[in-house]
Formats: sequence, structure tokens, C-alpha cells
Amino acid sequence: MDKKPCGIYVHIPFCKQKCRYCDFLSAPGDSKCIREYVSVLKKEIGSYRKKASEYEVKTLYFGGGTPSVLEPEQISDVVETLKETFDLGGLEEFTIEVNPGTVTREKLLGYRKTGADRLSVGIQSADDDELRLLGRIHSFEEAKECFSMARETGFENISADVISALPKQTIENYSRTLDSIIALKPEHISSYSLIIEPGTPFYKEYGEEGPKKNDLPDEDTDRKMYALTKEKLLKAGYHRYEISNYSLPGRESKHNSSYWTGREYFGLGLGASSFVSGVRYSNVRVLEEYAKDPTKRIIEEETDQKSLMAEFMILGLRMTAGVSKKEFKRRFGVDFEDVYGEITEKLIKEKVITEEGDNLRLTDYGLDVSNAVFAEYI
Ligand code: SF4
Repeated sequence: MDKKPCGIYVHIPFCKQKCRYCDFLSAPGDSKCIREYVSVLKKEIGSYRKKASEYEVKTLYFGGGTPSVLEPEQISDVVETLKETFDLGGLEEFTIEVNPGTVTREKLLGYRKTGADRLSVGIQSADDDELRLLGRIHSFEEAKECFSMARETGFENISADVISALPKQTIENYSRTLDSIIALKPEHISSYSLIIEPGTPFYKEYGEEGPKKNDLPDEDTDRKMYALTKEKLLKAGYHRYEISNYSLPGRESKHNSSYWTGREYFGLGLGASSFVSGVRYSNVRVLEEYAKDPTKRIIEEETDQKSLMAEFMILGLRMTAGVSKKEFKRRFGVDFEDVYGEITEKLIKEKVITEEGDNLRLTDYGLDVSNAVFAEYI
């Protein structure tokens, strides 16, 4: 039997300190807590032995939280356990997310030795005042240092994250951040606009009722920052392959692209989501519960065909490569035209979608108003 390609995501829910805007599943954890977590994670991996035999892992991604709070020996321990369970022989990409405030040269060298060939570095801003405001634990100088250590230790594929629309951020400040990040020559850049998430310290200050909500850039400035990102990154040789992601040619994130193209994936660790054999499920989100039984999973309600079709369109259109109508028919057994012909024709007339043979994709204008386009397919 041919093995099916899949991805593996490993969630490390620990950070040195919680950033003030962050609502990810992460919290500070001491070394004992991290040690115990790794041992539970290994148990979870082992529980997949039977199912894993059907798959060949193409991409491996350690995300968080801050995976770089783990020592290289701990990452190696997890990777070796994965190798005992899954077929990692055809691995094409192995990424570890790192926070510049948690790495040393030795640590990065150790990560490289575990087989990791890509780093995703959370830089966010090149302005130290902004970094402090965000509650980040590093300065921009430390981010630069992290980059040069990563290069010295053999990482030839590095992604940088940047956030725009920060409180009191001006176009000039943001422009300087973009220039400084481009100067580091990362192979990949993910760029997001700040979202004020309920339940975060930022929400209390900058949320709808927050006393400092007027410190946030207005919609017009936000749009200008978004346009500036595109302009500067394209000029620097990056291409935009997904709404928020840019890369040098051939350096697109294989792992993230596989989510957007509907490949199956195993999510391991606290709260991680999986999509295996057509079923979507998540691990529990409470650490004590996960530690007690790491195989306890919450299966999402069976997704109906209509939702799967809408998801196919939305995830596919996020990618600048777009979607194939033939692939739609292969997956769902119905003609694209019968389901979305009329609405797509309208969107083509509105110049938000363009059609070339079998392929449909968002136009530049469509990418800018993508949420409105996606709403049409729901
Ligand atoms: S380092 Fe990342 S995951 Fe951790 S608190 Fe900050 S933004 Fe959240």
C-alpha cells in the first residue's frame, strides 16, 4: 500500500513570559514542567504507532508557545520518538519556531543536529520601544544576533515574523522595521496586522472599551502599512504566495502550504489540532488533563460537504497559486460550475477573481479585500 503524505505539528505550550497581545495556548513553565511535558508528549506519539504506518511524513514543525525553551536534547528526544513511530525518511522540511530571547549559539547548533533545517524567528518589530510595549523578552539587537548565529550554525532557510498596526506606530516606524528585517535577508517573511484579542492585557487597554484604544493606527494607516509591506517586499525580491506570507523563490513554507492545500496532518501536544483520515480533532487544552491522558481527543462535529467545499475555496484562494476546478471535481465528485459557477462569475466581473483555464485565483485587488470574497463562498 502506498503511504499517504502528511505533516506533523508539535505544540510546545511554554514561553519565558506571556506577551501582552498573545492569546495562543501558552504560559510560562519551569524546567521540571517542561521535562514532564516532553515525557507525556512522547507517550502521545507512541499512541499513534498503528495509524502512523499508513503515512509518510513530509514536513515537521515545532510551534508554540516557544519551542526554543526546550534544550536540543529534549527536541532530539522527541524527534527520535517520532522516528520510532512515524516514517520520517522522506522529510522535506523541519522547522523550529524560536524566540530570539531564548537562544544561544550552542542551542542552535544542537537544533541543527536534530535535523532541523528551517527556523521561524519571532522578531515582530525592529523598534525596541515597540518590542517592550508588546511584552517581548528580546531587543532588536538580540534578534539580529539570533539571525547571525543561525547562519553560522548552518540554517540556510529562515523565516521572520513582523506585526504591523501596533499602538502609536507610525508609517515611518513601520517602514524602518521592514527595512531592518529585509536587511537580515530572511528567506521568508510572515506579516500580520495586530489583532486585539479578548482576554489579553492589550484588550483591556486597546479593546473597544479600552482607555487607550485611540492609540491604535486608524483604518487608513493600517491599509497604508499593508500596502507598504507588499511594495517593499516585492521590491526586495520576495513574492507573495499567501495573503500574509512572502518568500524568496522556492522558499515558501512547505508545512503551512500543506494546511492550505488540504494535506493531512497530525497535531501533537497540548491543544494541537489534527486532520487525519478525513476527521478533524483536537487534543485537550488543559495541561493537567493532557498530562493525565495525552490520547484524549475531541472530535469535531462531522463536517458536511458544503462546509468542506467552502473550506477548499477559502484555503485555496489564500494562496496566490489559487484553486483548480478539476481538483474540486476530483475531491467532491460534482462540477465546480454547478456549485460555485454563478457566484464566481459575479466575482470575476467585480475583478476580485481571475480565471485562466482551469485555475481561479484572487487578483491583487481581491487579495486586499479577501475577507469579503471568502464570505461569498460561505
Ligand atoms: S512568545 Fe509567542 S506564543 Fe509566547 S507569549 Fe509571546 S507571542 Fe505568545
